Formats: sequence, C-alpha cells, structure tokens
Amino acid sequence: MNILVTGGAGYIGSHTCVELLKNNHSIIIADNLCNSKIETLDRIKQISNKELTFYQIDVTDASAVESIFSSHQIDGVIHFAGLKAVGESVSKPLEYYYNNIVSTMILAKACITYKVNKFVFSSSATVYGENKVPFVETMDLLPTTNPYGETKAMSERILRDAAKANPGFSVSLLRYFNPVGAHESGLIGEAPNGIPNNLMPYVTQVAKGKLEKLRVFGNDYPTVDGTGVRDYIHVVDLAEGHVVAIEKLTEGVHIYNLGTGQGTSVLQLLQAFQEANNIKIPYDIVDRRSGDIAICYADASKAERDLGWKAKRGVNEMCRDAWRFEKGYDEEQ
Ligand code: NAD
Ligand code: UDP
Repeated sequence: MNILVTGGAGYIGSHTCVELLKNNHSIIIADNLCNSKIETLDRIKQISNKELTFYQIDVTDASAVESIFSSHQIDGVIHFAGLKAVGESVSKPLEYYYNNIVSTMILAKACITYKVNKFVFSSSATVYGENKVPFVETMDLLPTTNPYGETKAMSERILRDAAKANPGFSVSLLRYFNPVGAHESGLIGEAPNGIPNNLMPYVTQVAKGKLEKLRVFGNDYPTVDGTGVRDYIHVVDLAEGHVVAIEKLTEGVHIYNLGTGQGTSVLQLLQAFQEANNIKIPYDIVDRRSGDIAICYADASKAERDLGWKAKRGVNEMCRDAWRFEKGYDEEQ
C-alpha cells in the first residue's frame, strides 16, 4: 500500500514508518517538525534501507494536504500528527483543539474527496477517563480531565460520524496505553523537549545524570504498592499494531486497545529499569500529580482476536531499549 503517515517524524510515527517499510509498504510522511527533528527521516531510511517521501507541511493547512492527495495515489492514512502534552493543553486549550481536531477533519475530508478508504487514528486510553479496569472498547467513555483528552474523544466522534455518512470510508481508532522504549538499533526513540512529563523519559534522564532524582507522584493510591499503575507497551509492538490495523482494516469503524493487558506500578517499573540496566535511580515520594488516575490497563483481547496482534515485548526490554536510545542520543549532543 501507499500510505500517508502524518506525524511520521515523531516518536510513535517514526517507529511505525520503519515497520511499514519493513512490510514493503511505501510511505509519504507529512510533518511540520514542531516536535521532531529532520534527522529522524534519515534514521528511518538507515534502519529500513528503503526510501520515503517527505513533505514538511502543517496538516491543518487544507491546501497543502490537498496538494499531497492530488499528486499521489494514496491507499490509506495513518494520522499521528498532534500535540500531546497534557499539562500544556490546559494552558493552551485553543492551540490543542485547533491542531488536533482541525487536522483530523481536513484529512478525513481529503480522504473522502479522493476516495482514500483507510484511515487509522492515534487515540489514547485517556478517553476512558476513570473507568473500571481493565478498559474494554465497549465501555462508555467518561469525561477526561484535560483538553488533550477531549481532542482525542472528539476526533473519534468526528471520524465515526464521517464513516457513517460515507460508506466505504473505513476507520480504525487505536487507543494507545503507555508507549515506552525505542527501536533496538538505538537510532530512533523518544526525545522530549525540556523536562519530560512522562515517567520513562524522566527515568532515563536521571540515569544519565541530566536530572537529579525521580519524583514519584503519590504512594497512597489503592494499588499493589500505593504508586500509580499503567499498561506500558513497547513502541515497536505498538508500531507493529499499526501495520496490521491498516492491512486488515475492513469496512466500518473499528476500535482497538493497543496495550499489553498488564499493569505495572511506578515502583515496579523503577525496579525493572534498575535491574535491566544495572543503574541505581534515586527517587523521592512526593504528592500526587493533579489529574492522574490510580490504575489504567487494557483488556487487549479484541486486537488479538480480530487482528492477530499481541504485544510481545516485556517491561525489561522496554527499559533496556529506552536506556540504549537515551545513551546514544546524549552522546550526540
Ligand atoms: P510526537 O510529538 O513525537 O509526534 C507527533 C508528530 O506530529 C511530531 O513529529 C510533530 O512534529 C508532528 N505534528 C504535530 N502537529 C502537526 C501538524 N499540525 N502538522 C504536521 N505535523 C504535526 O508524539 P507521539 O508520542 O509520537 O504521538 C503520536 C500520536 O499518538 C499523537 O497524536 C499523540 O497524541 C498520540 N498518543 C501518544 C501517546 C504517548 O504517550 N506518546 C499516547 C496516546 C496517544
Ligand atoms: N509519574 C511519576 N513521576 C514522574 C512522571 C510520572 O511518578 O516524573 C507517574 C504518574 O503519576 C503515573 C505514571 O508515572 O502514575 C505514568 O505517568 P506518565 O506521565 O508516564 O503517563 P500517564 O500519566 O499519561 O499515564
């Protein structure tokens, strides 16, 4: 297939591009590089030993999007491009609603106009809100606590309505749990700007000595050791999930959790990281972070049943690969 990948220079997008190329798909990346680097494109080519097409455009620019659709025969779109910092979405709600929702509408419209029938969307487990675990695709969604989460819930709704009104336009809504880790080559991975908000990149930066100590946000949750529980998924497993999701997409709207089904607490992840890499991570227990829920993990059985996809990589591999990337990334600075 000839696949348009928006946000393909980013963390999850770059890993997915590698897996798409590995599976003999052709890719066109559209990315404005607002949260990624141009060098990543060479890394994707280097790992896969394949070529790709790149457009540096903003996918909220309808005419720039239109010009890609009019000059390529596209079979499907995977839409990763979006702003994703939860805290920032609270202080810049209009930027988040505009970027994440307008981009989805423009791409869906272009697909319908140009009869591109396959659309895969990056959603998030955040749309479940504080539901009962494990989160199942059939659950009613609960309100999220921030504009970022709302952009995901609204984009899902927009795509569902667009598919209903345009038979043939098929949509896969992929709800990611907590992507971590990096490609085993160490060439691509997660490189957040500034101080990381997320646990794994924070831990790797403490390991490197860039940050002094991890702050564990709360140890009084109703969990195995009082710290927050999440379903961490290796980014390469997640990337493989996108390849099967687009290859096996059939008519209609399909929702899949992409997670492992396993919950891991903050202290358990910390322990695994220390053991996998033989590095001590100093930490303090501090107050809960506002907006955090206690427990979040997937019922991942639907993706296995329908798509034959299952996450294969464990927490140790996630910790080892995340650290390998951080080490290599720092050496280049
Ligand atoms: P990322 O920031 O690394 O990648 C997003 C890419 O999109 C970046 O390369 C950025 O430059 C590009 N981009 C953003 N807005 C754009 C625009 N208007 N036009 C063109 N390019 C634009 O993020 P990621 O972690 O790879 O996330 C990819 C998608 O998955 C996002 O939609 C995100 O919300 C979603 N998601 C991420 C996580 C996570 O924990 N990383 C969890 C659930 C869902
Ligand atoms: N967390 C933490 N310290 C940090 C970052 C995160 O204790 O510096 C905790 C957070 O409270 C949550 C878990 O780690 O329980 C995962 O947080 P992350 O931000 O990575 O993902 P999300 O909150 O989006 O699930």
